[in-house]
Amino acid sequence: MEVGKGRGILPNGRTEEAYSCDRQHDGLAQTGALSVNSRSGAIRKPFARDGTAESSMDQVSPATMIDAGAERSVIEAACWGTRGSIASPGPDTVKFGGNTPCLEIRVRDGRRFIFDAGTGIRPLGVSMMDEGSTRDAVVFLTHFHWDHIQGFPFFMPLYDADVSLRIIGPDQAHADIKELFATQMASINFPVPFTELSAKKEFSNLDGGVWEEDGFTVRAMRMRHPSFTVGHRIEYGGASLAYMPDNELAGEHYDVGEGWRKRLVDFLGDVDVLIHDAMFTDEEYGSKLDWGHSTFSQTVELAHEAGAKKVLFFHHDPRRSDQELSEIVDSHRTQAAARGYSVEIDAAAERHEIIG
Ligand SMILES: [Zn+2]
Ligand SMILES: [Zn+2]
Repeated sequence: MEVGKGRGILPNGRTEEAYSCDRQHDGLAQTGALSVNSRSGAIRKPFARDGTAESSMDQVSPATMIDAGAERSVIEAACWGTRGSIASPGPDTVKFGGNTPCLEIRVRDGRRFIFDAGTGIRPLGVSMMDEGSTRDAVVFLTHFHWDHIQGFPFFMPLYDADVSLRIIGPDQAHADIKELFATQMASINFPVPFTELSAKKEFSNLDGGVWEEDGFTVRAMRMRHPSFTVGHRIEYGGASLAYMPDNELAGEHYDVGEGWRKRLVDFLGDVDVLIHDAMFTDEEYGSKLDWGHSTFSQTVELAHEAGAKKVLFFHHDPRRSDQELSEIVDSHRTQAAARGYSVEIDAAAERHEIIG
């Protein structure tokens, strides 16, 4: 299976440099790239498998490719929402996206895992309903702030009685997860009651430790963020990805125990892709201390210290424009190169695809 450089046709008719990734129905088993594919057109759904030339052509910035040509093809991952705090659509958030956090991971045998249910889970659900393959999924939640659950009632597979969903999140002590979602759909907040969700649903907790099923491993670690929030390290078939959307690397008042930084670095050790909270510039952070979020600089330092191959800035500030974010990425690439860091730096964009 060939992964090559080509020309992609954007939905608006423009062409741009692209890497093509010829994915037939069995393409996952054969494609040999670990890459993050920037879909600036943001029209086609990730993981289209109809095998046509157009749908298998991904618009990819060469700068976002990593490890191209490696014989690995076990995980596909795509961000369906990258924005923090509140959905922020508009002309200034087209490139990196306006939906709030949602990450989809699929593995070679077809299983689907979803991380967070921000507004990005709505288009993911639409895509799943359009697909012929299974709509079952395991949904992991990092925590229950609005931006991570607001898409939940709009996730179409929840309304399909043939679908089985397992929903796993950190224990919030005062309320179990099912209760939290039911409350979100109370009639004062939402017109459709929780009882109308006909999919089979199982709810459970993962506060720390490991969740494993048929070789797919999810480790959870407590983050520095208001309420009990976790970050995840995902491993499958030798590929690894860490997802930490809300985490304040500085600040000391979080109840996370002794040696947290060292434990975090060990937890992330040599991860292929680190998706991490990077909401503020150093200048902005002065007035945002203890808000529960990190800076771009702190995130790059963490990625370097942990030996991550690639870091994706995530949980973009709702006011951060595409132009600003692009400039920030460029500036941090320059700074990292000057320091001799090998970690690749980019910002997560909606419908980015990671192929492992
Ligand atoms: Zn958040
Ligand atoms: Zn949060």
